[in-house]
Amino acid sequence: MSSSHAETLQIIYVCCAAWVGLCIGSFINVVVYRLPIMLERRRQQERAELTFSTIEPAAPFNLSVPRSRCPSCGHQIRWFENIPVLSYIALGGRCSSCKTHISRRYPMVEAFTGILFAFCIWLFGVTGAGITCSIVSSILLAQVLIYRDLHANQPTKPVEM
Ligand SMILES: [Zn+2]
Repeated sequence: MSSSHAETLQIIYVCCAAWVGLCIGSFINVVVYRLPIMLERRRQQERAELTFSTIEPAAPFNLSVPRSRCPSCGHQIRWFENIPVLSYIALGGRCSSCKTHISRRYPMVEAFTGILFAFCIWLFGVTGAGITCSIVSSILLAQVLIYRDLHANQPTKPVEM
């Protein structure tokens, strides 16, 4: 294979990785929002079982159910409003129904994950290392965001002398 063919393939792989990364970034936004809520619900359920008390059965809530909605008006987000980064730009950063501002963090996480995936595949190619690097970096990103959300509002303890 000539070097120009190899370079063209490399560019195609990096672009595909960027697109996969954008979609994974969209999923990371879901995980970062829902996983702490799912864990809290499970903790409440376990506490109730340990204390032999009962809690009201809640509606199913996991990474796929219910479908994404606008937190302001409850408008169910349609597939074409859920295309990573592009939908945010097309909607002008607002809900299509109630025009409430959508956080810039969502497209930023999507774009950043796209860049992470593209960088990993550019660095290692479509190899086990490249795919592992992409997966591990996206898991780390999700963990950092969850940690940040949980601890962002807690004041830093002053140093005791
Ligand atoms: Zn809305």
